[in-house]
Amino acid sequence: MIVIVILGVFLAGLIAYWILHEVIQSAIDNSTMARNIQEIRDHLVGKSPEPPQTANDEDHENCPGCGYLVHLSDKVCANCGLALRDSD
Ligand SMILES: [Zn+2]
Repeated sequence: MIVIVILGVFLAGLIAYWILHEVIQSAIDNSTMARNIQEIRDHLVGKSPEPPQTANDEDHENCPGCGYLVHLSDKVCANCGLALRDSD
């Protein structure tokens, strides 16, 4: 009889430990995943230290893709690489 009680306590402890382990592990996985997503997003978007500016002279315009200030002679946006006009 006492063996069953000891076995029950042991199993309960084991299950509690397992649940705790799973929770901690999933928390670690989530933070790792979040960091990876952040890195991928930084890589895709590209780090743009300059905030979007507003074109206030006739030599410049804003990129339709990202709003970056580009010169009228630019064929592609320096920030996002969008083709601004057909080269002819
Ligand atoms: Zn752009």
